[in-house]
Amino acid sequence: MSIQNELGEYLFLCEEMQKLQNFIVESPEPYCLTISPKKYMRPAGLGNKRFAFALMALTHGDETAGIGIVNALLRLALAGIVQIPFPIALILGNIEAAERGKRLWQSDLNRSFGLEAKDVATYEEKRARQLSGILKETLFFLDIHQTIEPSACPFFIFPYYKESYAFARAIGYRHHIVTHWGKPFSVSGKCTDQFVIDHGGVGISIELGQRGLHPEQIGDGLGLTLNSFGEISHFLNKGEHLSFSKNRVGETEEGKLFTFSQIEKFEADGKFSLRPGLTNFQPVREGDNLGTLDEKPLRANSDGFILFPKYTSPMPGKAGEAIRILKPISAVDLPKAD
Ligand SMILES: [Zn+2]
Repeated sequence: MSIQNELGEYLFLCEEMQKLQNFIVESPEPYCLTISPKKYMRPAGLGNKRFAFALMALTHGDETAGIGIVNALLRLALAGIVQIPFPIALILGNIEAAERGKRLWQSDLNRSFGLEAKDVATYEEKRARQLSGILKETLFFLDIHQTIEPSACPFFIFPYYKESYAFARAIGYRHHIVTHWGKPFSVSGKCTDQFVIDHGGVGISIELGQRGLHPEQIGDGLGLTLNSFGEISHFLNKGEHLSFSKNRVGETEEGKLFTFSQIEKFEADGKFSLRPGLTNFQPVREGDNLGTLDEKPLRANSDGFILFPKYTSPMPGKAGEAIRILKPISAVDLPKAD
């Protein structure tokens, strides 16, 4: 299936969903679907939020597994195999970039949330404003991403908050977590997950693997979504915290924790050239040659793992990042309060 086919399929499935008798199905913004069970008693745990859960896909237009997950979920809901247990929102982010087969069109949607009206110019910045209302009304939020280069494994990535960490651990016990705290990820506009967090929700992102409509990644993302339904229902109905126990199977090892030990940025029109063949979660040793940045040798500052290596700039002529290095941490290294 191509992205055009998937977008067409999505619109078809949305029309089919609107025929269901037991749900209120609406499209408050283009390529956004909200689904609420008609007989739904709002639990206290939902607070002032409208949606217990929102799933976002195509935040980057060429990370296509997300729309595969949304369509798979809609097909299962239409077949009555999956029950939608509470009000949810399904959001497709950067449609203009997706239709062009690109990561972004005029700017990065995942750096476009929370801008002042006067600072909104690009398609993505306008789209972020369109989607903001739904994200502000969301309690638990999962944003689906994929990496540019291959990845040895899927991994969660989000700014550290104890609720976000609990949510990720509860729905994806065996997935690695990359988290960070202190300085914001982006100084211009906000990422989706940070925007949800700043409005009192719980926001996380997952990188499923290298971009594309890969069935095993769609299966993984669908699994995380269905786990979210279970964990959030438990949280809302029992008034209990997210459980860490349900997804533990036998002696399966818990996913590991990482944070950044090195971030290599380039200025507008800066030059960088990475050593060929670098992939996500590839191990590196301190001093390893990574390539060049501004014509100077670029080396790993510590032992760790490669993250987000880039061979071309997503926005030519603009500042950006060439590569990051991850270091393993353990739960005791996480901030005590947030
Ligand atoms: Zn992405």
